[in-house]
Amino acid sequence: MCEFCTKHGEGKIWYKNASNYANDLLSDINRQRYIKDFLSLVFEDGFQALGRLETIFRKKGRLPKNLKTAMIKKAKEEHFGQVLPIEEICELVIKAETIVRMPCACRWKIGKKEERCCYAVSYGPDTWYEEIDMRYFGKASDEGLESVSSDEAVKQIEHMEEDGAIHTIWTMMTPFIGAVCNCSPDDCLSIQTLNRIHVETMERAEYVARVDETMCDGCGLCDTTCHFRAIESITRSGQSIARIDPHKCFGCGLCRKACSTDAISLVLR
Ligand code: SF4
Ligand code: SF4
Ligand code: SF4
Repeated sequence: MCEFCTKHGEGKIWYKNASNYANDLLSDINRQRYIKDFLSLVFEDGFQALGRLETIFRKKGRLPKNLKTAMIKKAKEEHFGQVLPIEEICELVIKAETIVRMPCACRWKIGKKEERCCYAVSYGPDTWYEEIDMRYFGKASDEGLESVSSDEAVKQIEHMEEDGAIHTIWTMMTPFIGAVCNCSPDDCLSIQTLNRIHVETMERAEYVARVDETMCDGCGLCDTTCHFRAIESITRSGQSIARIDPHKCFGCGLCRKACSTDAISLVLR
């Protein structure tokens, strides 16, 4: 279990704890304010800051430790994510009372592409997304929110995984969980923050990928699929096989999907 489970899980995995989706969290005035400005605050400012920080990172080879610590602390308090494998993301979506699909803010910021990959989930009658300002996407403030059934959402998410999406959940002022995302690693602010300046604004999945060496033929497909550089090829008894570093693995499950011999499984971290 991760730090979030200890703090927000009440004995469960934190994202399976119903109180983290509860309506009483939505009545918090600070959270309501945060949601109203969420898109410009997190994505517009976030990508600009990433560019500036990358310049520092390149010059010095790393970020100052206090800056890195402050960034992670702020992310954990406000908008923190976790990678989930597809079976767990679908379980969350199926249990939700309302699901609203909206465009992905990262893809929009990077390439002005409107791809509807984000799902606002609510488990009670009150919904968080009504206050969100859609003018970020060049729309009217309440335009572009599309209600979908859980079956539709699951089909869409399965389709996105075929295209290489990484599934994540996000807090809207922790511990309230509002969004289920299907991220494109090249566009996602969080994955880019991790890869470009080595700051982690999302948690690894509760699962880690493991290779059954007896089933691996060393094709290397899993290695090319992994966006976290967690897989390397090693030689054992003259045969090339894949090895996964559990500390680098985020548990997204994309390597498992790519493996044609079913040599990869996800096991509890
Ligand atoms: S976190 Fe993922 S799905 Fe959500 S806005 Fe960013 S890339 Fe899009
Ligand atoms: S994709 Fe499967 S068979 Fe190929 S190297 Fe990876 S684990 Fe081995
Ligand atoms: S090793 Fe597999 S499960 Fe782990 S991060 Fe890489 S692709 Fe995802």
